Amino acid sequence: MSKQIPISFEFFPTKTDAGAEKLKVVHQELQLLNPEFFSVTYGAGGSTRERTLSTLNDFNGKGTPVAPHLSCIGDSKERIAELLDLYKSQGIDRIVALRGDLPSGQVGLGELPYATDLVRFIREHSSDHFKIEVAAYPEMHPQADSFDLDIKRFCDKANAGANAALTQFFFNPDAYFYFVERIQKEGVNIPVAPGIMPITNASNLIRFADGTGAEIPRWIRKQLATYGDDTDSIKAFGHEVIVKLCERLIAGGAPSLHFYTMNTTDPTRQLVKDLGLA
Ligand code: FAD
Repeated sequence: MSKQIPISFEFFPTKTDAGAEKLKVVHQELQLLNPEFFSVTYGAGGSTRERTLSTLNDFNGKGTPVAPHLSCIGDSKERIAELLDLYKSQGIDRIVALRGDLPSGQVGLGELPYATDLVRFIREHSSDHFKIEVAAYPEMHPQADSFDLDIKRFCDKANAGANAALTQFFFNPDAYFYFVERIQKEGVNIPVAPGIMPITNASNLIRFADGTGAEIPRWIRKQLATYGDDTDSIKAFGHEVIVKLCERLIAGGAPSLHFYTMNTTDPTRQLVKDLGLA
């Protein structure tokens, strides 16, 4: 059994009432695993604003704290301030602060062009009310000019007032350990929770990885390819790979794990149980 560390779960807002009802069941099932919080994503430029709010409403006050994601690119300070005030009035005290990606891939837009600007704004507007989580990229953000500059930008976010970080998913634990070592050398000691993506479907995984700059190691790609449409074998292999990854991360000192649930109970539940973290 692994050392006991906290876990958290990420949802995205559903598009339909039927999807929202299904997610309520997933929420109840995952809540039994005693997570520290559930986070709910937010479309850049406010594109999922109403749906994010309604998903948060479904789960806020139901036992486990909720943490809205909030992105700043292409949005105004006024609209962001409204959301911060709303969340505060609803008793929410944790926020995942992000830049976001506009569909066109344009960068540096709006009154708050980067996540550091958003963190600073949240601190100015809401003082210390919120615990602020930010994003981290052990394999470097895809638009970063260099790894060193990306480390510096990450440290800027921490120094602007972020309390903790959640990473992009990755499969190489050494990338995570090196990232943490590098930020600590810069004097940044906020906890960085590895983001864990269960492997259940090869083509979806490749699509997500291509979109985020996460690397799928060659041996994993090759092994997945040998399974073709055999989903049971893909899931069994994926489960084994992720359990081993998590075990190494926990043994190496990861402070907590953040699971990208993809709005389903399994395989996250199975991973958490097999790691002895439930
Ligand atoms: P930043 O920290 O601002 O960094 C973005 C890029 O800009 C990096 O390359 C950085 O090196 C560079 N940079 C930073 N500051 C400067 C500067 N001053 N000058 C020049 N370059 C700079 N997206 C959503 O839209 N909604 C979500 O809910 C969401 N949730 C996420 C959750 C997690 C855990 C993670 C890891 C990502 C999530 N994303 C989400 C994706 C995220 O918005 C994108 O990865 C986005 O491209 C970068 O966001 P960021 O907050 O890391 O940006």
